[in-house]
Amino acid sequence: MVNRERIVDEFKKYVQIDSPTKNEKEFSQFITKELEGLGFEVYIDNAGKKVGSNTGNVIAKLKGTKDREPILFSCHMDTVSPSVGIKPVIKNDIIYSDGTTVLGADDKAGIAAVIEALKILKEKDIEHGPIEIVFSIYEEGGLFGAKNLEYSKLESKKAFVLDSGGDPGQIIIKGPAQDKINVKVKGRSAHAGVAPEEGISSINVAANAISRMDLLRIDEETTANIGTIKGGKATNIVTPEVSIKAEARSLSNEKLDKQTAHMVKCFEDAAKEFGAEVEIETTRMYGAFTVDESDEIVEIVKKACQKVDIKPFTDSTGGGSDTNILNGNGIKAINLGIGERKPHTLEEHIYIKDLVNISKLVLEIIKSV
Ligand SMILES: [Zn+2]
Repeated sequence: MVNRERIVDEFKKYVQIDSPTKNEKEFSQFITKELEGLGFEVYIDNAGKKVGSNTGNVIAKLKGTKDREPILFSCHMDTVSPSVGIKPVIKNDIIYSDGTTVLGADDKAGIAAVIEALKILKEKDIEHGPIEIVFSIYEEGGLFGAKNLEYSKLESKKAFVLDSGGDPGQIIIKGPAQDKINVKVKGRSAHAGVAPEEGISSINVAANAISRMDLLRIDEETTANIGTIKGGKATNIVTPEVSIKAEARSLSNEKLDKQTAHMVKCFEDAAKEFGAEVEIETTRMYGAFTVDESDEIVEIVKKACQKVDIKPFTDSTGGGSDTNILNGNGIKAINLGIGERKPHTLEEHIYIKDLVNISKLVLEIIKSV
């Protein structure tokens, strides 16, 4: 039923409307018209003003033709740089960019799949329950659109996010929480040759702290990393200040609390020993989520996969997505593989067959609820 030629044409059109993060307005206006044409009531929320985007999240609702619980489909509109002037190129039934930008299948393949499914729903007069759509802004670089979404507008308790890189059939049921840890170590400068004993080397303090830290793979659920360390001007100066940026992730919020506290303590202890000062800022970027393997929402997707001849499989991820934020706001959400290959690179591409399959899957999910 999915119209292969139409979905490819639409997808190509979508990626050619620039929507780099914080500049989603042109695309949001375009997609609003599409949704209105399909009978949706569309609302743009206030998130843009709060986070510095030139538009808000697109929230759209379609009344059901039968009495069922509402379900939500969610994708993000923004694309990671470089993504201005995308020119899609098709080779051997695979869609690429021209090599100078990303393709933007992350996440416009998801949007194209949803819109195509909705078109078929309308054309074939297929019965359905209430459908809600969120096309978010500013997902890349912090999930800020989803964090500032007007949740009071939504009624759904189940959300299907289309934004994972795996094969169609992949059902992400576990995602980690992430903390960012920014540290400033403040020592004291001195001439390194004349009077080093008068100084406190912030580099030595940082090195001491990091050397006592458990890092990288902590356990099967938890990771931690020192990402950057910056400071120092010259070899003849005892360095008075360094800045360190670190992160920690875990599928368990409790384990993450523990890991972050451990890293903070290492910096504090080292500073104390050396007589230095530390300023530490920790931020929970997003919470972890776990959806039970036997949950109804997983069953819905598995059954829909079987109907369209895709092999379903549950999976976990190491990255964050709007799925984390939806779950944190009381909407049970899973992230579905849409076959976006090599996202965030100039080699990003998608197989046309995957684009078609995820659209079939969306349609089947709607039909099955
Ligand atoms: Zn994405």
